Amino acid sequence: GEPTPTDLNALVEESLRLAYHSLRAKAPNFNATLATQLDPAVGLVEVVPQEIDRVFLNLLTNAFYAVWKKAATQGPDYKPNVQVSTRRCKKQVEVRVRDNGMGVPAAIREKIFQPFFTTKPTGEGTGLGLSLSYDIVTKGHGGSLAVVSQEGQFTEFIVTLPQV
Ligand code: ADP
Ligand code: MG
Repeated sequence: GEPTPTDLNALVEESLRLAYHSLRAKAPNFNATLATQLDPAVGLVEVVPQEIDRVFLNLLTNAFYAVWKKAATQGPDYKPNVQVSTRRCKKQVEVRVRDNGMGVPAAIREKIFQPFFTTKPTGEGTGLGLSLSYDIVTKGHGGSLAVVSQEGQFTEFIVTLPQV
């Protein structure tokens, strides 16, 4: 694919719908609240839409898995939530995908971007989502991909893309 001026907020919303739909297909009785906060100032961003779409889908699929996994160990007081926000800051845009799922243990924080690293059971994950996303965002788009997490509490991935 070629870089094209792309409505990034629309791309985020589309990925969110798709990820939630596939979660509901696998776990029909599972409910999670979704919160989106999309900055209209984000506008058009020069990206390869099919690639960035894939990044969002990977991050959202991971987020839904994390809340689903945590829900299985919690009582009814636990409210699974996935938050997506976009923000324009000077010459870049930021997309944050945050979940209140199981979190990333500090001991594996350095490994999650490595190809084939997964903590999921066989068949549930390939361990390629984050390494691919990392390459797409950094090498492919000159951006960055970072993670902030507290084990048992939350995980947030921050995608930064240059905006000209
Ligand atoms: P996969 O989803 O196939 O396991 P990924 O590359 O997408 O591969 O993720 C690698 C690992 O990073 C996951 O197996 C999991 O341990 C961790 N991880 C990724 N996203 C999250 C998240 N939102 N919450 C907790 N752990 C995560
Ligand atoms: Mg994944």
